[in-house]
Amino acid sequence: MKKVAVLAVQGAFIEHEKMLCSLGAETVELRKKSDIEQEFDGLILPGGESTVQGKLLRELGMFDILKEKIEAGLPVLATCAGLILLAQEVTNDEKRYFATLPVSVKRNAYGRQLGSFHCDGRLKGIGMYPMEFIRAPYIESTSPEVDVLAEVDGHIVAVKYKNQIALAFHPELSGDTRIHEMFLGQIG
Ligand code: GLN
Repeated sequence: MKKVAVLAVQGAFIEHEKMLCSLGAETVELRKKSDIEQEFDGLILPGGESTVQGKLLRELGMFDILKEKIEAGLPVLATCAGLILLAQEVTNDEKRYFATLPVSVKRNAYGRQLGSFHCDGRLKGIGMYPMEFIRAPYIESTSPEVDVLAEVDGHIVAVKYKNQIALAFHPELSGDTRIHEMFLGQIG
């Protein structure tokens, strides 16, 4: 059975676990350093607050080991705040986290008032997909080797780069399991 670790220090991780379980995957929660010592085949970086998640990852001693695993090729699905954690560049914030994904993102890019909305967008390899945006970032630019999977209103909202899939929206809230299926398909 495929075993997926879900970062569970803050944010919308339970919804990812439910979706993965419904697809027959096993999940483990990463809450403390000893949790990352076990074997797992994939990693979910959920939505939430990237500043809080980044701080906790460092304080809990998980940051360096997870960064190494991502760099070594561990399949990762990152959503919203998770995208910010992966981004090499954040155009409106000083903080950097894993910086394993060669993209520039803008935090809270849709503004704080109109920050949350729903739309259907075309996702490469999947087709029309219901996208939930919650105080979301978008991707302002990517390096050429990054595969752009979706754009909404001229802004990049989904990319794939090697072992990393990163989305500005929340597939775990959509009721549509196709992105999680695609991710599981990339695991071992
Ligand atoms: N605004 C959050 C951040 O900058 C991301 C929001 C989300 O994950 N839904 O971290």
